[in-house]
Amino acid sequence: MMSQKVRVRFAPSPTGALHIGGVRTALYNYLFAKKHGGDFILRIEDTDSQRFVPGAEEYIIEALTWLGLKFDEGTHIGGGYAPYRQSDRKEIYKKYVDSLLEKGAAYIAFDTPEELDAKRAAIANFQYDASTRGEMRNSLTLSKDEVQGLIDRGNQYVVRFKIEPNEDVLVNDIIRGEVKINSSVLDDKVLYKSADNLPTYHLANIVDDHLMEITHVIRGEEWLPSAPLHVLLYRAFGWEETMPQFAHLPLLLKPEGNGKLSKRDGDRLGFPVFPLEWKDPKTGEISSGYRESGYLPEAVVNFLALLGWNPGNDLEIMSLDELIELFSLERCSKSGAKFDYEKGKWFNHQYIQKKSDAEIAKLYLPYLREKEVDFPLDYIETVVGLVKERVNFVKELWDQSFFFFEAPTSYDEKVVKKRWKEDSAAQLNELIVVLNNISDFSAHNQEIIVKDWIELKEYHLGNIMNAFRLAIVGESKGPHMFDITAVIGKEETIKRLEKAVHDIK
Ligand code: GLU
Repeated sequence: MMSQKVRVRFAPSPTGALHIGGVRTALYNYLFAKKHGGDFILRIEDTDSQRFVPGAEEYIIEALTWLGLKFDEGTHIGGGYAPYRQSDRKEIYKKYVDSLLEKGAAYIAFDTPEELDAKRAAIANFQYDASTRGEMRNSLTLSKDEVQGLIDRGNQYVVRFKIEPNEDVLVNDIIRGEVKINSSVLDDKVLYKSADNLPTYHLANIVDDHLMEITHVIRGEEWLPSAPLHVLLYRAFGWEETMPQFAHLPLLLKPEGNGKLSKRDGDRLGFPVFPLEWKDPKTGEISSGYRESGYLPEAVVNFLALLGWNPGNDLEIMSLDELIELFSLERCSKSGAKFDYEKGKWFNHQYIQKKSDAEIAKLYLPYLREKEVDFPLDYIETVVGLVKERVNFVKELWDQSFFFFEAPTSYDEKVVKKRWKEDSAAQLNELIVVLNNISDFSAHNQEIIVKDWIELKEYHLGNIMNAFRLAIVGESKGPHMFDITAVIGKEETIKRLEKAVHDIK
């Protein structure tokens, strides 16, 4: 076979917010395409108008853009195979449905929902297939004239795929190997509905994959049961030669216990299952998103990449470019991946450390503005450098650094009780004099001079430093003491010491 340009598609149905599992599917498609110099395509599968949710398509695009997964073609950017939204491709599908009818690979069925319900009630485990289609109202049981008559009189119908029973259908899956399914378990799937003049998911999906020259179908495990049907459809159309290769990704599992990760797990354990915040347009219900929760897109990408794939060694921190370099479908696991939310936080922590202080400072700015503090950017950068190792999220920076921006207005009572000794006030008064005499107020120099003084006076180092910290921070936290005082400066340090000596009783 001719070596072909890799083309993959992410083909979501716009039925709501994109679940984090869907984001992983998009990511793996992207990594695979870029690894092979191929195209990554966004196709919107919106043939089920009943389930269409306004805003969902825009949400999907915004989420993947935020994560840095750039499409080569799609509804929002066009491309050589446009249109990319199935509802804009309506006219295309009819002739493919007709071709299956002509070949006898599909048939027209008039059974009403009531008639189908009656059958289901009468026959246990009723399935519309080779064993039952002979008793139903369809073009196989009715004469040509009867069929035409019903259509002419405006009766609604569906087109069903005629699946031959008792045949082993093979699906070659890159991740799962050869999957064999007997065609008898499949039902005669509806491919087209006259009522809305639209194909169903299965038909539109296959026709579009063919027309868009898709080479690999990489999607969630929940679509594996549809794969045999898809193989049979390719065959019915005579497109076996160009059938894409399948790769069905493992499920994302609950963090604890068994089963598929759900939105309820997120609500229960307090983590988002959506990339961006989502407001349900019907109920108004708001679901949290990774972006709004303070995750860096790089961290989310890295975290998701390892949920179902690994590079074959214990490498964990990988940029998008490194992931592209290392990714392979062969290294995807068959078994489900437990959604380890704590690990997600760990990744965010790692990426905060990896980013420059300047970058983090910029992300910190909005939070500082909210607190109405206004400091020069290089000051903020220095502060960030001193405290970022203590946080998992940018929003946690304030709690670790507020004392760089404002003097304590009160002192933690518990700390006062424990750390403020009888002679603390007198000692800090002496410390004020010592500090006042220091001209080079660098952390290093302060430390040498203050420690010399403590040694000379035979004071208790711990007691002095604890009282000192209480005066400067207001509680017993923060980075190295002299790093703090070097940053806030001599004047501010002495001011805070004087206030503490005066205020703490
Ligand atoms: N529209 C399907 C979905 O919502 C696409 C499945 C596939 O990739 O074939 O996931």
